[in-house]
Amino acid sequence: MRIDILTLFPEMFDGPINTSILKRARDNKIISINLHNIRDYSQNKHRTVDDTPYGGGAGMVMQAEPIFKAMEKLNQEGKAERVIMMCPQGRTFTQQMAKELAQEKHLVLLCGHYEGIDERVKEKLVTDEISIGDYVLTGGELPAMVVVDAVARMIPGVLGEMASAQQDSFYHGLLDHPHYTKPREYQGLSVPEVLLSGHHKNIDRWRRRQSLLRTLERRPDLLEKAELTAEDRQELQQVMDTLGKILNT
Ligand code: SAM
Repeated sequence: MRIDILTLFPEMFDGPINTSILKRARDNKIISINLHNIRDYSQNKHRTVDDTPYGGGAGMVMQAEPIFKAMEKLNQEGKAERVIMMCPQGRTFTQQMAKELAQEKHLVLLCGHYEGIDERVKEKLVTDEISIGDYVLTGGELPAMVVVDAVARMIPGVLGEMASAQQDSFYHGLLDHPHYTKPREYQGLSVPEVLLSGHHKNIDRWRRRQSLLRTLERRPDLLEKAELTAEDRQELQQVMDTLGKILNT
């Protein structure tokens, strides 16, 4: 996959894309990440890229022209399937969206700053607007890093074992089960006996149960859309029956 990122602060990406799994994915040529400084496409001698808002008010607005010019240049090298603007007003990013975007061959991510970007960029160039949550950050760089990381790990070959991603929270609509590693006892706390039993069927059942219970406790909203088996439903029904009995006594 090719990802082009348009930003005023390319240096912000140095750490995340040159570390750990993203670095390995780039070294192995599974993904290429190209950073483009929007300022390089400014048409004036001071290299400015923003101006005051029409209608007045606080803050500066990123101008359309440098972004149009940058996109013209990128389009000459090949048109991306999606041009995604990072925007708090966009669709809230989810694991499902990460999976979908991982199917594409070429993405462009556009990072805003200041008060945002001239609306005409949205109208003409952007296919998707993505928000990483209901809060406002100073720029689109951190949201773009979040999207790149989440999408990259859904591309086959990026993680050592794809199976590990498939057990993670949200992949199948549930939260992940608890994890333990050595030592067996730590500060008076023991690892659950079943995990030491070597009985894989019981371990799988315990993990699934923990996932279901955690999701029920912390994010019951997820259960509506989760992929549940008949056994899962029975498990949840038992919990609800037990709760019902406790509440009725
Ligand atoms: N005036 C804009 C508004 O209220 O919708 C906020 C602009 S914000 C200060 C500057 C830039 O940061 C945005 O253009 C966007 O690229 C990015 N940004 C901030 N919060 C974000 C979020 N939650 N998700 C995605 N991008 C965000």
